Amino acid sequence: MKKITSRTIVCFFLALVLVAGTGIFTIKFFMEGDSWSAFSANRHLYTNNVLNTGRILDEKGQVLADYDSSENKWKYSSNAYIRKATLHAVGDSTGMIGTGAMTRFADKLTGYNVITGAKPIFPGGRDLYLTLNADVCQAAYKALNGHKGTVGVYNYKTGEIICMISSPTYDPASPPTIEDGDENYEGVYINRLLSATFIPGSTFKLITATAALESIEGVESRTFHCDGKVTIGDQVITCSTAHGDLTLDQALASSCNGVFGQLAAEVGSSQLDKYVKKAGLTDSLSVNGINTAKSSFDFNFGGEGGLAWSGIGQGKDLVNPCALMVYSGAIANGGTAAKPQIISHTAFTEGVRTSLYLRHSTKELINPETAAKLASMMRNNVTSNYGQRNFPGLSIGAKSGTAQSDNSDSDNAWFTGFLQDNDHPYAFVVLVEGGGSGSKVAGKVANTVLQAAVKAN
Ligand SMILES: [Zn+2]
Repeated sequence: MKKITSRTIVCFFLALVLVAGTGIFTIKFFMEGDSWSAFSANRHLYTNNVLNTGRILDEKGQVLADYDSSENKWKYSSNAYIRKATLHAVGDSTGMIGTGAMTRFADKLTGYNVITGAKPIFPGGRDLYLTLNADVCQAAYKALNGHKGTVGVYNYKTGEIICMISSPTYDPASPPTIEDGDENYEGVYINRLLSATFIPGSTFKLITATAALESIEGVESRTFHCDGKVTIGDQVITCSTAHGDLTLDQALASSCNGVFGQLAAEVGSSQLDKYVKKAGLTDSLSVNGINTAKSSFDFNFGGEGGLAWSGIGQGKDLVNPCALMVYSGAIANGGTAAKPQIISHTAFTEGVRTSLYLRHSTKELINPETAAKLASMMRNNVTSNYGQRNFPGLSIGAKSGTAQSDNSDSDNAWFTGFLQDNDHPYAFVVLVEGGGSGSKVAGKVANTVLQAAVKAN
């Protein structure tokens, strides 16, 4: 009897494992079946016309890549600048570019569905329309002028990413042989906008300013003083020049390290920690399923002096450019912004739409009242310091950054901000590695790209 009972228990247990396993498989089948079917190693699906693959196009219908099933290979845009500028969005046939549509959205190009699988209900491939504007991407690529870096522009009301550039890049129509350790191609397969983090430099003062505005009473009516040098903890924080007497607005416009180092020390590490989390920087964003890199910080490193460095965007701060762009969008948009998207829609090759991608909003990244204050401070940065003449016709608010980097002899130039323009509600981020001065170098790239973006739409 005892033997039978123990056998029953074993059988029951095995049955339970079987049911649980089937359950897990079924769930995974529905959730991941699309990527299983599109897995690039399933070559038999791609050849012999089993699987039809549509085209990858930009928002205006300009063809970026078209699968030629007779030759069994992808054909790209005839414009070499566009091929290089859109490489990290479009992808490459070997799947080395992890964020490329060819690999990431292969299921959407084939019209996969859970009922009939890889052989779609309606025959033929699907055209995948990206939100990108290829001409704006081309302008951004040219404006980077051979520098490594990234440019992102997106509509903070709809979420459409209009421009996504990552450099170094290469021509997918004739891929180069890349030797290990070749500096010209360092990180070439990485999408710097979505998948990397960098020292933010003074662009981080936006977060320190947010924390100061909300946690230090009367901070807006204070007058600060800068002698060009201040000792905080065991660290000497310097400015390029003695800024003299300053209000908070003026300190942000002239990017005074002394004032923002002191504000960070006054606000404290736990408050800064709270504000980077609230700003969404430490979260990963899902851009149509592509997860962005999380920003990271250590505000407890190096005592009060270390905290001061963190508050001015050095120290252990590492920020994802896309997250910074979305934060700029939230400042312009009253505290929340649309989540960035790279897919516009899919359609039959005859043009009939087969899907819609709806707008989703972020959580509140910044208190609406603080957002309004910061937006006007960023607008003041342009009118009082960067120069409106450098951004003709654009109602732009921005913050520059010049970040010291371990990887480069010269500084990394940053520029992030937004347009206050109902027809063109764009937020942007520009990073020019080894570019030098933030507002001069990255600001110039931003102007070129934004002029192209406004003209395009
Ligand atoms: Zn100063």
